[in-house]
Amino acid sequence: MFQNGYPADKRFYFICDHEFLKKRGMGHMLPWPWTMGTKQYERAGYIQVGASVAELAGKIGLDPMALEKTVEEHNIHAKSGVDPYFGRGASVFNRMLGDPSVGKVNPNLGPIATGPFVALQIVPATLGTATGLATDTSGRVLNVDAAPIDGLYACGNDATSLMRGLYPGAGITIGPGIVFAYRAVNAITNTGRNSGAEQIR
Ligand SMILES: Cc1cc2nc3c(=O)[nH]c(=O)nc-3n(C[C@H](O)[C@H](O)[C@H](O)COP(=O)(O)OP(=O)(O)OC[C@H]3O[C@@H](n4cnc5c(N)ncnc54)[C@H](O)[C@@H]3O)c2cc1C
Repeated sequence: MFQNGYPADKRFYFICDHEFLKKRGMGHMLPWPWTMGTKQYERAGYIQVGASVAELAGKIGLDPMALEKTVEEHNIHAKSGVDPYFGRGASVFNRMLGDPSVGKVNPNLGPIATGPFVALQIVPATLGTATGLATDTSGRVLNVDAAPIDGLYACGNDATSLMRGLYPGAGITIGPGIVFAYRAVNAITNTGRNSGAEQIR
């Protein structure tokens, strides 16, 4: 999103058709039957819905012909299985997370074909962090000489990620967060038992 130029009005949309929404849900909306209909989300302004791609474009303030062209192009790519713009489905990791039922050619690229069509605005936000305080295996914060600072612990987003800036997939933030919180508490309680009160900052 950022590499392709952040538009001045800061708007990005996830656009899909009704079938997609029913099967997979989208954002706050769960798949059918947990989310039975879209009306309440539409009324709340969470999504915009159009009977046709052109109508949807009108509702989100885009040029209808431009959006129709984009969707048309996307559907050609879905058919060929090649995504020249974003490379969806190019990696094994991508394909493993895909849905084989969308087409044998590329499980990450299904057509946007059956109306009504739905748009959900995408707003970039922070999911996790890659860098933070250096810690040891007990979550103790290290100083510049890599020695533990007495009584100071960190985990989760406050600690440097084990992945050193990579994001292999969901779970890599919460997983280590839980593990190192657990290890830190163990270290704190053990220290407390063995050497009297240790101040936690
Ligand atoms: C939409 C979304 C989806 C995600 N999906 C996944 C996923 O599938 N798997 C995964 O592993 N990770 C996922 N993450 C990332 C993960 O949720 C976070 O990285 C993780 O929760 C960070 O944990 P944390 O304890 O470091 O921080 P937080 O969970 O942010 O906890 C910090 C807490 O401190 C509180 N706080 C802040 N300031 C103060 C203050 N001054 N005084 C007192 N309290 C304060 C906050 O209210 C908050 O409760 C997702 C994140 C988002 C936003």
